[in-house]
Amino acid sequence: MTTKPTVFTPNSAIATAVHPSPNIEPRRGGRPPNILLLHYTGMRSGPLAVDYLARPDAKVSCHYVVDTDGTVTQMVAESMRAWHAGVSSWHGETDINSLSIGIEIQNPGHEMGYHDFPEAQMRAVIALCQDIVTRNAIPPERVLAHSDVTPMRKIDPGEKFNWQRLHRAHVGAWVKPSPPHDDDLGLGPNLESETPAPPQACIAAAQRLLHRYGYDVPCSGIYCEVTLKTVAAFQRHFRPARVDGCLDLSTLATLERLLAAYPTPVAAAAPTAIA
Ligand SMILES: [Zn+2]
Repeated sequence: MTTKPTVFTPNSAIATAVHPSPNIEPRRGGRPPNILLLHYTGMRSGPLAVDYLARPDAKVSCHYVVDTDGTVTQMVAESMRAWHAGVSSWHGETDINSLSIGIEIQNPGHEMGYHDFPEAQMRAVIALCQDIVTRNAIPPERVLAHSDVTPMRKIDPGEKFNWQRLHRAHVGAWVKPSPPHDDDLGLGPNLESETPAPPQACIAAAQRLLHRYGYDVPCSGIYCEVTLKTVAAFQRHFRPARVDGCLDLSTLATLERLLAAYPTPVAAAAPTAIA
């Protein structure tokens, strides 16, 4: 596979700079991008992130980087497969890199002082996302967090990312979350002794709903670690007021509301040639 960066014309007018990454390859199966995947960089600065994503030995890349001041750098042409999703899954599809366009949003992340996304950056993210979903006909329910497609490994872009605002700008799915209550701590694997055992049927029902929306979760009725982290990923995206991985009534109500609003989540498009 090529390791020489290839200069290309930016796909989006929102991109103000091009910094080609060598870490690219053709999209497998010739399938067009059908998912928009949002990340945070987890690095100290935007320029450091761009440098890293352009290093051949890093073996990672993404299509766009949005710095805190709103500067947008395109690193991979949208027609190419970038390496940002890693081992991941959505609606049973596991080659998310071949199906997605990836945006890295500069933020040091949970391990280095996770902070709010600045206004200039949010404006740039929104404009870029609007442009990408319009040109690529990406439906709302396929605008996803990295944590949605790999909840066991990733938590980015995290609960501070404003998905509601993105939705108001006509990008991504959102429903008004049911607020969590202090007296409803929900079901989880580590219950206090006075708490009754979690009913398996209830856990299985929630797992089925998460699975129907696209999450890769077993429908076992057992509150395993995958279930805990998948519930946390759902909360991080759709009910950010409390992210604890416990299945409380607010989480369930929000999930049911989401599936009612988006009753037939769109699976990946059938293989077609990229125009
Ligand atoms: Zn990520």
